[in-house]
Amino acid sequence: MNLIEFLKRQNIIPEKKSEKFIKILEQYSENDVLYPDVVKELDLTVTEHERLFNELEKRDYISAIYIIQCPYCNELGNTYVDENDIPFMDHCRFCEAEFNHQENHMQAYRLYFNYDEEVDVIEELNDKIAANQDRIMEITDEIRSLENARKTLQLENINFITTKNELIKNKNESKAYSKMVARGSNVKFLGKYLDNKKLNLKCFRCGDDMEFFDVNGKIMGACPGCDNEVEMEFH
Ligand SMILES: [Zn+2]
Ligand SMILES: [Zn+2]
Repeated sequence: MNLIEFLKRQNIIPEKKSEKFIKILEQYSENDVLYPDVVKELDLTVTEHERLFNELEKRDYISAIYIIQCPYCNELGNTYVDENDIPFMDHCRFCEAEFNHQENHMQAYRLYFNYDEEVDVIEELNDKIAANQDRIMEITDEIRSLENARKTLQLENINFITTKNELIKNKNESKAYSKMVARGSNVKFLGKYLDNKKLNLKCFRCGDDMEFFDVNGKIMGACPGCDNEVEMEFH
């Protein structure tokens, strides 16, 4: 509960007077000083004043302060929170007159509305929630882009492995493969029998079965026994 809410609910002073008090407080901010001439405007009886201000002080809406006032020039001097700290004789810092400070001070009140804090906590939480939400969105985006990067790498690796397996197979099954790799960048071993042409070929030099290759799109035959090579043309 803040000071204004308390004044609306209290039943120590009449409603008219508390409404007037609330109206006056509209001009005040947290930590402002409420001077005795303003309190006088509330027209409180001695009992009402005592009971209300005791209650306000007990609930930490106000704290009493003591302000020195020079009897010669009326200027305000030091402020004290404890009446016992007020010195006995001292000089006015404006007119330099010496006077009894303990007898020349007024009692005022420092105001603590107490509503700023509650609002601040909620504001602070709202800010934290919003900041976390932003970070969550950022992380979600990061996860999404990492997931995409992971899929891309995985796909690339599947291609690498397939190619590697093909190359190993070519290398293991074909004796002429390593020689044919020098003929082109894209060499594929097709076997010793061309399925689609129902064709196999014997080397006319040594009589070995020729191996067939796809070299950059051209079909070539190579003899694993000698250096004999042929380029095939199908029409
Ligand atoms: Zn003075
Ligand atoms: Zn041969």
